[in-house]
Amino acid sequence: GELEPFSNFPPSDFTEKEQRDAFPVAMSNIRKEFGKQYPLYINGQDVVTGDTLDSYNPADPSEIIGTVCQAGVAEVDKAVGVAKEAYIDWRNVEPRVRAQYLLKAAAYCKENINDLCAMQVLEVGKQWEQAQADVGEAIDFMEYYARETIRLGEPRRMGNSPGEYSQYFYQGKGVAAVIAPWNFPLAISVGMVSAAIVCGCPVVYKPAGIASAVGHGLVDMFKAAGLPDGVFNYIPGRGSVMGDHLVDHPDIAVIAFTGSMEVGLRIQERAAKVHPGQEHCKKVIAEMGGKNAIIIDDDADLDEAVLGVLYASFGFQGQKCSACSRVIVLDSIYDRFVHRLKEAAESVKLGPAEDPSNYMGPVVDKAAQKNVLNYGKIAEEEGKVLVKLEAPAEYTSKGGCYTPLLIVEGITKNHRIAQEEVFGPVLVVMRAADFSEAVDIANSTRFALTGAVYSRSPKNLEYASKEFRVGNLYLNKPSVGALVERHAFGGFKMSGVGSKSGGPDYLLQFMDPRLVCENT
Ligand code: NAD
Repeated sequence: GELEPFSNFPPSDFTEKEQRDAFPVAMSNIRKEFGKQYPLYINGQDVVTGDTLDSYNPADPSEIIGTVCQAGVAEVDKAVGVAKEAYIDWRNVEPRVRAQYLLKAAAYCKENINDLCAMQVLEVGKQWEQAQADVGEAIDFMEYYARETIRLGEPRRMGNSPGEYSQYFYQGKGVAAVIAPWNFPLAISVGMVSAAIVCGCPVVYKPAGIASAVGHGLVDMFKAAGLPDGVFNYIPGRGSVMGDHLVDHPDIAVIAFTGSMEVGLRIQERAAKVHPGQEHCKKVIAEMGGKNAIIIDDDADLDEAVLGVLYASFGFQGQKCSACSRVIVLDSIYDRFVHRLKEAAESVKLGPAEDPSNYMGPVVDKAAQKNVLNYGKIAEEEGKVLVKLEAPAEYTSKGGCYTPLLIVEGITKNHRIAQEEVFGPVLVVMRAADFSEAVDIANSTRFALTGAVYSRSPKNLEYASKEFRVGNLYLNKPSVGALVERHAFGGFKMSGVGSKSGGPDYLLQFMDPRLVCENT
């Protein structure tokens, strides 16, 4: 039958007791499995390796989520080899049939949503509703791309010359390497993987090391969907050991990457080089970092603006590519806004994400903690501290990866802290004489991912639409929380190359357009 039109998966309603109670149960179920070994998955088989990496709970590093087998170059070669084999049949499977596998995997996620969320709370420190949003987005990607494949799957007749039948259609490019970040550990992984698969490109998937247990969820969902062997392969591994090898492999046709600018640029450079035996130019889709700003106009609704800035800056500890890290405030409203922001920020509760009364939790691991603390020092040197809120000693004493909620003012566009992505709970406040200066400041970084404006002036909102040049601009709402389709997502400049995920052009990147013309 025909599919219903796409709509976003509705978030859980935690005011309902049943939904509230499901989470702690799921959490204790996951805890019962702690310490489990996660093998690789290649050609429909579990593969155990000698090299392993432990994944831990950032709120309490003594809690080991699981022991994850690590792929080396031999396992990469094996996975790419079976994916190359699988490509020959998979590319000719009807788009409608391929779409069914995504819908089945989405159904699996809906049935297991609490377990999938609980794993994120424990492995990367997401708050409940943030974990829900991530799993909801994963479901959305599969529901949306399934429909997009069907839309694009019908060959189009070109022209109507008598004596000629000319057809335009798409075919998957070949084996796709999917290299994912840890911050939206299910959604972004599923988005890139499902897009490739549904387009006819078998996948070799490398999750981020610190989110590999969440990443293993893809094995479970595609097994449940009955996907043919070799079409999806899971090869967690250290970027430093097998990352370059995967990118350089001559049989990789597409690389879908989401992560930092540094790694994204390295991948683009390496992918441009042709290796012996390579028969195609590699296509790289790279979604990279941001240094996102929110502008507060002099007539902004401060109730909304303060909450919006707080949520965009400190939700999931500021570890979103879309997070706000600069708030640019017009001079005439500066004192009032900053006073309100300080008050609101000082009321934030810090502690483990699994306790829903905590607004902000630990950053994702010890390395992130060190990096964020270092940027905190730079921020304090360059500006003046407005708020520095530490986690209570009962949590830090366990070695939890906490960093303070930090807000500094007195920052101008040439400061390092106004230019470099921190990826943590550090917000700088900047002052602008007027609206056009505010937009200039907003545009003064290499990045162009998200931004937001709080204003009641139609003229200024229209000006921002044109001149505040970012991939996703939000007017009178926070810069975070993009939904599939409604807020198709992605940036430009140093924030990435490729068209928007969850948008109408995304799938085209994984396919070659072909034309067959028959003389009739
Ligand atoms: P990262 O760049 O450190 O790692 C991303 C992935 O690349 C990981 O799987 C990592 O193991 C792998 N990798 C590392 N070295 C590699 C190499 N030499 N070759 C191949 N792969 C290699 O990023 P992260 O810390 O996981 O994620 C945070 C970053 O991601 C931030 O910069 C954030 O802004 C960005 N991000 C962007 C978007 C977006 O849509 N634009 C979304 C989420 C996150």
